[in-house]
Amino acid sequence: MTDILKYEVLVIGSLNADLVVRAPHFPKPGETISGGDLQIIPGGKGANQAVAAARQGASVAMLGRVGQDGFGTFLLDNLKSNSVDIIHIHTDDSATGTAIIVVDANGQNSIVLSAGANGKVSPADVDLASDLHPSLILLQLEIPTPTVLHAARVAKQNGIRIILNPAPAQSLPDELIALVDFIIPNETELSLLTGIEVKDTPSAEQAAQTLLARGAQHVIVTLGSKGALVVSGKQVTQVDTYKVEAVDTTAAGDAFIGGLASAILRGLEIEEAVKYANACGALAATKFGAQPSLPTKEETEKFISLS
Ligand code: ADP
Repeated sequence: MTDILKYEVLVIGSLNADLVVRAPHFPKPGETISGGDLQIIPGGKGANQAVAAARQGASVAMLGRVGQDGFGTFLLDNLKSNSVDIIHIHTDDSATGTAIIVVDANGQNSIVLSAGANGKVSPADVDLASDLHPSLILLQLEIPTPTVLHAARVAKQNGIRIILNPAPAQSLPDELIALVDFIIPNETELSLLTGIEVKDTPSAEQAAQTLLARGAQHVIVTLGSKGALVVSGKQVTQVDTYKVEAVDTTAAGDAFIGGLASAILRGLEIEEAVKYANACGALAATKFGAQPSLPTKEETEKFISLS
């Protein structure tokens, strides 16, 4: 008899190889400069959030596409070693998604994203995963928006809860905003989604209210060191984060989302779940890098108990 695996979380999203080179400054057009040794790091918002949720103890499967190249194998091996199921990640004729990242002497990033196989994730891929029946799906915007919309429609029809991280920042159809249970933008993403300049908590609340008017159920705005703002119905709650020595906030948002998903699955109420997610985001800010900084459940619980 074969076991039917039931995953708590299905992430439908991107996998990227991040190719990082440090350089004294950004090259000007036509200029060639020498940089440090190339680092190849697993990334992509989808894969980062899958790893974030898995490290928080959730059982996680990922749906996406990689190319038939070395980067694809590298990314799949990385997910496997983080206990993320890869059976619904297809190989594609396109190259694996890459982010070409130059970091200058001031720590500023300059990034060129090549979507590659991520751009081919299709509604048909989503339908092929209909055997999974997760409790929750996690969506971002590094795969085509029609696929994201299709995934949200199918999940809604099946009573599966939906978290959408609208990143990278862009505008979205109202239908998608209304389908999801939780939409989690940072300040930049919220500005782009709503056309309202978000620069502080009052403007974040004002912008979040416009998403409620467009059908959103719960808007959770991440506010970096100011924590997060939960806006749903008539309720507006600012949930403070933990005080930490931040060294690199890369993937703090991904850690927050993985933490929130796992806390919701454990049955925590929204505010408690956001408090837990803040701890995950804060911990990620204390370490360099994306996936290396994503905390485990044990690390998070220890951090909360000592805070
Ligand atoms: P993103 O990484 O998507 O830009 P944020 O910077 O808003 O997202 O960070 C996500 C979450 O991580 C915040 O809501 C907060 O909980 C936590 N966080 C980020 N930066 C800090 C910080 N400097 N101190 C404490 N918590 C932080």
